[in-house]
Amino acid sequence: DSFLQLNLSRSLLLACEALGYAKPTPIQAACIPLALTGRDICGSAITGSGKTAAFALPTLERLLFRPKGVHAIRVLILTPTRELAVQVHSMIEELAKFTDNIRCCLIVGGVPTKGQEAALRSRPDIVVATPGRMIDHLRNSMSVDLDDLAVLILDEADRLLELGFSAEIQELVRVCPKKRQTMLFSATMTEEVDDLIKLSLSKPVRLSA
Ligand code: AMP
Repeated sequence: DSFLQLNLSRSLLLACEALGYAKPTPIQAACIPLALTGRDICGSAITGSGKTAAFALPTLERLLFRPKGVHAIRVLILTPTRELAVQVHSMIEELAKFTDNIRCCLIVGGVPTKGQEAALRSRPDIVVATPGRMIDHLRNSMSVDLDDLAVLILDEADRLLELGFSAEIQELVRVCPKKRQTMLFSATMTEEVDDLIKLSLSKPVRLSA
């Protein structure tokens, strides 16, 4: 078991090597090949399992072959807290370090919206966001265009729901294109998480690690 068997591009393998990742963690070994086929994925995975790279690597691989030219946001990653959003954003920057110009922007509360509006208008490939602030941008500014969205990721779904973001997530899911890939990760699989899976995923493959 090595990253070399996972059909990832050289720029991503280089990033894994630079991060000192010798081999994929179990969730990565299970998730990456499936995600590369475009299937929806529902993963039971806790922090520390390597779940961030499990969804980030196949998503970045997909972006390497994105259409050239102007396009709107391709990937939206929702996380329950600002801290987690910051971590996911920096992990993606690390993993995308050797790729050609994949841009990732961070949209979280507690900071002025002006700079974020400019970042959203500049058409980043990836947006890592907390639901509340993302909804603010969606409702109050013309800067959010999700029409080209290809991948939606719901990270720590159980905590997203515990923190009361159900309505925000539903609203965001509704404005995403129907034809997309969705990946959901959760430490626990509660009834509420199951409802969210039914709402936002299509024929998901279930993985656990
Ligand atoms: P996560 O579960 O995504 O929060 O990742 C937990 C930690 O594991 C992070 O510090 C990652 O950088 C690290 N990590 C992720 N994948 C690997 C891997 N394949 N080998 C070693 N460390 C890893």
